[in-house]
Amino acid sequence: MLERTIKLQKLEVLIIDEELAVPKSVGGRAVRALADELTSRDIEVVEAASYHDGRSVFLSDASIDAILIDWTTREGKDKKSRAEALDLLRTIRSRNATVPIMLMADQAARDDLTVEVMQLTDEYVWLHADTIPFIASRVMAAIQRYQRNILPPFNRALLSYMNLAEYSWAAPGHQGGVAFTKTPAGRIFFDFFGENLFRADTGIERGGLGSLLEHSGPIGEAEAYAARVFGAHRSYSGLTGTSGANRTIFAAAVGDGQFALCDRNCHKSIEQGLILSGGIPAFLVPTRNRYGIIGPILPEEFEPKAIRAKLAAHPLRSHAVKPDPVYAVVTNSTYDGLCYDSAHVEALLGKTVDRIHLDEAWFGYARFNPIYENRFAMRGDPKAHKESDPTVFSTQSTHKLLAALSQSSYIHIRDGRNPIEHSRFNVSYMAQTTTSPLYALIASNEIGASMMDGPSGKALTDEVIEEAVSFRQTLARAHREFARKKDWFFWPWNAPKVKDPKTGKNVTFADADLQQLITDPECWVLHPGEKWHGFDGLPDGWCMLDPIKVGIVCPGMGDDGEMQASGIPAPVLSAYLHHFGNIPSRTTDHMVLCLFSIGITKGKWGTLMSVLLDFKDDYDANRPLVECLPDLVAEAPRVYGGMGLRDLADKMFRHMKESRAGQLQAQAFCVLPEPQMLPRRANGMLMAGEAELLPVEELANRVAGVGIIPYPPGIPIVLPGENFGPADGPWLSYIRALEDWGQTFPGFEKEVEGTVVVDGAYQAWAIKE
Ligand SMILES: *Cc1c(COP(=O)(O)O)cnc(C)c1O
Repeated sequence: MLERTIKLQKLEVLIIDEELAVPKSVGGRAVRALADELTSRDIEVVEAASYHDGRSVFLSDASIDAILIDWTTREGKDKKSRAEALDLLRTIRSRNATVPIMLMADQAARDDLTVEVMQLTDEYVWLHADTIPFIASRVMAAIQRYQRNILPPFNRALLSYMNLAEYSWAAPGHQGGVAFTKTPAGRIFFDFFGENLFRADTGIERGGLGSLLEHSGPIGEAEAYAARVFGAHRSYSGLTGTSGANRTIFAAAVGDGQFALCDRNCHKSIEQGLILSGGIPAFLVPTRNRYGIIGPILPEEFEPKAIRAKLAAHPLRSHAVKPDPVYAVVTNSTYDGLCYDSAHVEALLGKTVDRIHLDEAWFGYARFNPIYENRFAMRGDPKAHKESDPTVFSTQSTHKLLAALSQSSYIHIRDGRNPIEHSRFNVSYMAQTTTSPLYALIASNEIGASMMDGPSGKALTDEVIEEAVSFRQTLARAHREFARKKDWFFWPWNAPKVKDPKTGKNVTFADADLQQLITDPECWVLHPGEKWHGFDGLPDGWCMLDPIKVGIVCPGMGDDGEMQASGIPAPVLSAYLHHFGNIPSRTTDHMVLCLFSIGITKGKWGTLMSVLLDFKDDYDANRPLVECLPDLVAEAPRVYGGMGLRDLADKMFRHMKESRAGQLQAQAFCVLPEPQMLPRRANGMLMAGEAELLPVEELANRVAGVGIIPYPPGIPIVLPGENFGPADGPWLSYIRALEDWGQTFPGFEKEVEGTVVVDGAYQAWAIKE
């Protein structure tokens, strides 16, 4: 026998009434009788004896199906209590527009039922006038109405399909997971994930769930639903990540020998799009600051004149089938949270191209919080945009900062000029997906969308922003406290001062009003000339820092761009954080990045703060690495054995300074190598065996067969078809510096995508001469 592994869903009702605690009173007896009646109908009743407790229960338990709230008039019930109740009603509705709220009132309480109270609630329950079974039935009916609409279309269809309990004679062969139960390892796997995952993993013969390739049935409805939520004309649910989504758009929008304007700060999938399409890339080069953070592309790069000049001088222009670019792709926001004035970006690029793609892999939530107004692709109502506007694409990894399983992604399209009709676009879509979709992925993608629908989108993003800003302020205050004692500490990467709108005066970030910081985009806009961000030539408002992507800056980099006498390399801090179970999103030379996402728990950053303070203690005491980073010492005892934390930081900092790695990195990114072959041709030669794997010293003046992308910052220094340049040129010098770094500091090697590491030395594919 295979016993039940999945919890049965139980209905849950929250009753908020202080008389629950006074069972002998008349009111107490009535509400107790109602609670008992509901329990006898197999409903779980959660009791709260105050509005305050009721609020806590509601905020922590999203599975409540109905809420009954005391609204009687009694002696001792005053205005304050009415105000508390009203506040509770508002809180509930700010998160959930439809959960049934029933007020348990008496006749005298009618006078207090204002229009607002009536709008916020659904029903009134007259505990002393109606019978208890009748009231319980009203509650059940309200729950049934509510439940019918909780789930978005695909999830609703999937759950009802599961209830059919069909026998299958088709794939997948595991047959609802039964196959797994036949071996010990399979059984552990089955029990770990639970039966529902396997039951829901059915084959595409189930027509009732629709078709991913035809976008029909409940799957089609799910995509229409996502389009409504995200403000697109049409949306496509993707199961191969934003990697697949980007390739889909690229290959659909760009033809063989057509120019594509590409952000040089692009994801690998854009390089793959170039290979698939045979397009000719013309790169838009982003700014970079002294911390090595890749910033926005400046608006002048988007001007038609600059683009024309770029194409006129393009070394591969003889391959072009037409003179003008057909498509542009820009990463918005960057990994570090820099996002554009997207309306302005579209207006500028729209003068040159009909199709604009914003890669918003890390930015799917932007539409749902007013702080991001005008900073993302799918703005406002799609119907309000003109047909003469450019066609705009957005790709979003639902799994990255919204809530969905890995691989889930959306393509959103706002059709304007020169749109790509569905039947054509879908050919490209199908090439990047599978004929055997995992329904759990489609379901999770749709839930990610539904969580942003209605009031919960704002409530959830508000919470993330507030947590992130609270952490930033706490870090800034700690930094100030140490600075007063002439001591060091980390600080958050954001403006050190913001303007108070009431007084017009600047206040320090640490003292600014939290409400202002979480609602006023001006606090996060990069203003020209400001030292803290250090991007030159930015016009006001062009770029904003997303508060939820929190950069923790390590001391050591001067405002003038020169490294100071001493400092703390961010990789040392990052290793320490890892050791104590705090995994940052990524680490550059001087900054550790932590992302705050929908999955944040309140106060989680308190632990992060403690570890930062522990680091300070251990650094100041030069605590032996065997104690604070034992795994590192075990990996390379000869290098790290006798060292303390401070010794390591000093040695690494000195190395960074002497090797001038920062400057080398700047040169490698800011100057583009010479393209000598289209990416597709270089890739074709690689695949045809006409390329060879060479060590760095033999790569001079050779053409790359693969893109070389060092992480961080994750932007390509050389792409397929581009020349590696001379041995002492910027690109090979930087690769050698990375190699040297990895050999000097084992355990801290930098990943260089596109290379093969042999005995600590990088090798890369070059086209045979
Ligand atoms: C992560 C990322 C992608 C790819 O997304 P996946 O969902 O991991 O496939 C695309 N573009 C950018 C900018 C990314 O950061």
